[in-house]
Amino acid sequence: MGSERHAPRAHRHLIRGRSVFVSGRAATRRRGPGVSHLGIDLGGTNIKTAVLSGDGGELEVVARDSRPTKAAGGPETVASRLIESGRTSWERHGETETVGLGVPGLFDDSGAITLFPNLPGDWDGFPLRTVVSEGLGKTVQMINDARAFTLAEGNMGAGRGSRIVVAMVLGTGVGGGITVDGRLHLGAFGTAGEIGHQTILPDGPLCGCGNRGCAEALTKASVLTELAGKESAEEVYEAAQSGEQRSIDAITEVANYLGIALANAVTILGPERIVIGGGIAKAGDLLLDPLRRSLKQRVTLVPIDEIEVVPAMLGSYAGAIGAALAGMDQFAVRSR
Ligand SMILES: [Zn+2]
Repeated sequence: MGSERHAPRAHRHLIRGRSVFVSGRAATRRRGPGVSHLGIDLGGTNIKTAVLSGDGGELEVVARDSRPTKAAGGPETVASRLIESGRTSWERHGETETVGLGVPGLFDDSGAITLFPNLPGDWDGFPLRTVVSEGLGKTVQMINDARAFTLAEGNMGAGRGSRIVVAMVLGTGVGGGITVDGRLHLGAFGTAGEIGHQTILPDGPLCGCGNRGCAEALTKASVLTELAGKESAEEVYEAAQSGEQRSIDAITEVANYLGIALANAVTILGPERIVIGGGIAKAGDLLLDPLRRSLKQRVTLVPIDEIEVVPAMLGSYAGAIGAALAGMDQFAVRSR
């Protein structure tokens, strides 16, 4: 997030083989011909929106906006903020054909919340999809935020061009996802791809999901900061970059566990590329080098040298871009 604030307002991304303009908040660029798609990304701090334009052959990000979530207000307030975000985007950039909504948790087939660990208030059973769909007058497709990240990076970011992509998002929690030929693999129950919730250490620390020793419980941002004795993950990277041994060791320990988690995923799924995103990933090669070593050490039956481990490309709007993709027929995902 920190570096995103200082990022230039316009970026260039390669999308389906073409360099296209990705506009910033004050976007005035007109939508091109073809249908457009709105993605809304609900985060604990900000609600971000992205508009994609074009048909299946050629997609471009034509607008991005952000506003505070005001999460402390609870479900009703947050739902109103989501509806306002969608309506404001439509006023500025034109009404879209479809709407996708990325959320930081899990939900049932009807779009009611079943697990929202990082937002305050009583979310259990809150019919978020129904409320937002009614508020916008359009059926909203919901997607878990880590899966939205995966869909975006797999199709338009660092995983583009690879048939099978495993993605991992590191931050407050550890999310993940899998794309096969550009589409998410969500499994029979709509929840597959939770790479952060595989057991790495039997009888390890308790995870937010109820299991012990999950990758998330061993590698999330609060674990890293505690290991390094720092206030924030950013401080850990800075200290490591300036050569402080305790921070380097903390990053190496986290990278080692992540390497085990990814080695398991590689052995089972055989991806061509692994995309790493989120806060901790800003450590760059300080994290990726020991992670690659850990992978190499543990993967014996898949040609690990042919698998690329790369940082995410789309920045903090990946979730909104992925939510927009989730609303499109060609990437259609289950309702949960
Ligand atoms: Zn877990």
